[in-house]
Amino acid sequence: MEKLKRYTAKDAEETYLVPHWAAGFFRVGEDGHLEVTPEGNGGPSASLYEIVTDLRDEGRPLPVMLRFPQILEARVIELNEAFRRAIHKYGYRGSYQGLFPVKVNQRRMVVETIARAGKPYLHGLEAGSKAELALILAQDLHKDALIACNGFKDDDFIRLALMGKKLGKNVVITLEKFAELGRVMRIARELGVEPSIGIRYKLKTKGSGQWEESGGEAAKFGLTTPEIMKTVDLLAEAGMLGTISMLHSHIGSQVTDIRRIKQAVREIAQTYVQLRKLGAPVRYLNLGGGLAVDYDGSKTAFYASANYSLSEYAEDLVYVTKEICDGHGEPHPTLVTESGRAVTAYHSVLVLEVIDTIKPPGEDKVEEPEDVHPVVKDMFDLARSISVKNYREVYHDAFSNKDTLQNLYDLGLISLRDRALAESLFYQIARKTLKFALELDYPADELEDLQKMLADKLVCNFSLFQSLPDSWAIKQLFPIVPLSRLDERPTREATLVDITCDSDGKFDRFIDLHDVRNTLPVHEIRPGEPYYLGVFLTGAYQDVLGMSHNLFGRIGEAHVRVDADGYEIERFVMGEKARRVIEKMGYEEGELAEAVEKLVRSSRLTPAEKGAFMEQYARELVGYTYLED
Ligand SMILES: *Cc1c(COP(=O)(O)O)cnc(C)c1O
Repeated sequence: MEKLKRYTAKDAEETYLVPHWAAGFFRVGEDGHLEVTPEGNGGPSASLYEIVTDLRDEGRPLPVMLRFPQILEARVIELNEAFRRAIHKYGYRGSYQGLFPVKVNQRRMVVETIARAGKPYLHGLEAGSKAELALILAQDLHKDALIACNGFKDDDFIRLALMGKKLGKNVVITLEKFAELGRVMRIARELGVEPSIGIRYKLKTKGSGQWEESGGEAAKFGLTTPEIMKTVDLLAEAGMLGTISMLHSHIGSQVTDIRRIKQAVREIAQTYVQLRKLGAPVRYLNLGGGLAVDYDGSKTAFYASANYSLSEYAEDLVYVTKEICDGHGEPHPTLVTESGRAVTAYHSVLVLEVIDTIKPPGEDKVEEPEDVHPVVKDMFDLARSISVKNYREVYHDAFSNKDTLQNLYDLGLISLRDRALAESLFYQIARKTLKFALELDYPADELEDLQKMLADKLVCNFSLFQSLPDSWAIKQLFPIVPLSRLDERPTREATLVDITCDSDGKFDRFIDLHDVRNTLPVHEIRPGEPYYLGVFLTGAYQDVLGMSHNLFGRIGEAHVRVDADGYEIERFVMGEKARRVIEKMGYEEGELAEAVEKLVRSSRLTPAEKGAFMEQYARELVGYTYLED
C-alpha cells in the first residue's frame, strides 16, 4: 500500500474548511493548534488550546465561552469601511449609519464593545422592546448616532423613547403597525416633544433562507401601502409631516441570495422616492438586517452560507439607491442597516471538552466458538467472505440476518452471548462495507446510514440547549474544529452528544462545501490528555436564546485580548451556580436546605454522616451545573 503523506496544518485547514469560514480570524498553526488572529491575518495570534489550558490551570470549569472583543471591533470597522468605500466608489452623496440590533446579543461586553468601536462611525443601537431600550439609553454613543425603536409598543415604550429624544438622543420610533401612530401622536403631545417617526414598510420582496417569511405580504411587521398613505395624510393634517424621518424594512435574517437583497433595496428605495414626493422629509433609508454569515464557507445560496461578500452587499445598497434617487431627482438618503449577525457571529468560540467516547461494536477481533447458532455461524461466514466484489450483497445478507437474530432473541431462542457475537460481526461487516463504499460508487442514502451507524459518539460536557439552541431549533450549522493535534491525521469519524437527558442533545450535521456532512473527522482520544473542540461563529443569537434544559445553566466566559506579546484574559464571568438555576424555577434555597435538613435529622445516619451529607448538599446548591471532574 502506498504510504500516506504526512498530514500537516495545511491539510487540517482543508479538512475543517478553516480558511473558508474564518473570515481571517482563525487559522491552524504549524504546531497543530487552532489559532485566533483577532485583528485579521497579519495581526497578532494566540493558540486557543493554550488559552483553555491556562483557564483550566486557574481552576475555571468547562464548558467555557471565549469572547474576543477585538473581533467585534474589527467587524464594526469592516462594516463601516465597506460602506465608506462603496460610497466613495459610486460618488454617493449621502452617508452610512449602521445600527446594532441588540436582540442579536445583549451581553454587556458585546453591546459596550460595539458602542465604543462604533462611536467614530456614528454607529447606533436598535431596540425591539422596552427592556432593550432601557439598556440602550444608558450607552455611550455619539450624539448623532441613531437609536431605533422597533417592535410592538405600549405607552411606556413610546414614553421612554420620547424621553430619550427630549434628552437629546437621536431616537427614532418605528411604526410597526398602523395603530401605533395614534399613540405616538398622543404621547408626543403630552410630553411636548417632537417625535422622529420611522415607518416600517411591508416589503413584497421575500428574503431567502431560513427567515424568508420575515418579508413578503404575510410578514408580521410593517405597514401596507394603504396604511402608509393614511399615515402620511394623518400626519399632514396634524401639521406633523416633518416628523417622518426614516423608512424602514427588514427582509429577514441570514439572507443567502444577493439577488433578493437587491430586489428589496429597489423596492424600498422606490418607496423612499414616493414618500419624498408626498412631502415627507425622509432622511434615513433603513434596510434592516439580513447580512448573512457564511457558516459553511461554501459561498453559495445554501441556508448556511451566502453567495455575496460584505463589500458586494454595501456596493449593491449604495448603487441601487443612488440610481433610483438620481432617476427621480431626490437627494441621497443616509443609508442604514441593522446588521447584527454579521457583526457578532465571529467573536465567540464555545469550547467543549470530550469526556468520553462511545464506540460502536465490532472493532475487536472475535473468535468462532465450537457450537454456535446456525444464523450466527452464517454471520461468521459472511464476515470472512466480504470483498470488494461482493460487499453489497454481503452487507444486505448480514442486515437481514440481524433482523432474524432479533426475532429469534425475542422468542428466547438465542443466547445473549450468541447475539453479542453476531452483533459484533454485523458491525465488522458494516465497517468493511463502508470502506469499500467510500472507494467505489454507492447509493448515497445507504452510505449516509452506514456513516451515522459507524461513527463514534463523543460525549461532550455541555448542553446544546443552553449553548447552541439554534442547532436544535432550526438545524443551524456551526463550524467545529479540534483545538489541538491538527498536525496529525484525524483517524476517526464522530458525532457529538451533550450531557442533557434529551436525545435531541446531539450534533450530527457538520459543515461541508457541498450540502452537509454526517460526521466530524476527529483524532483517537488519548487517555489522560484533554481533547477540546471549538464551536465557532456562535456570537449571534445563541447567548440569549439558550435555555436551562435539565437545569444546566449559563456557562462561564473569558474575555480575551491578543497582542504582539501574547494574550490577556481581561475578565472572567462565572457561569451560573446550580442554586441560581433552581431558584429561577420558583424554589427558595433556604427552604430546600431546611427540608433536606429535616429529612436528615429524622434519619438513622450517624452524626458524622449527617454532617457530611448536609455539607455535601450545601455544596451542590452552590456548585457549577456541568460535570466537574
Ligand atoms: C433581528 C432583526 C435584525 C437583525 O438581523 P441580522 O440578520 O441579525 O442582521 C435587524 N432588524 C430587525 C428589525 C430585526 O428584527
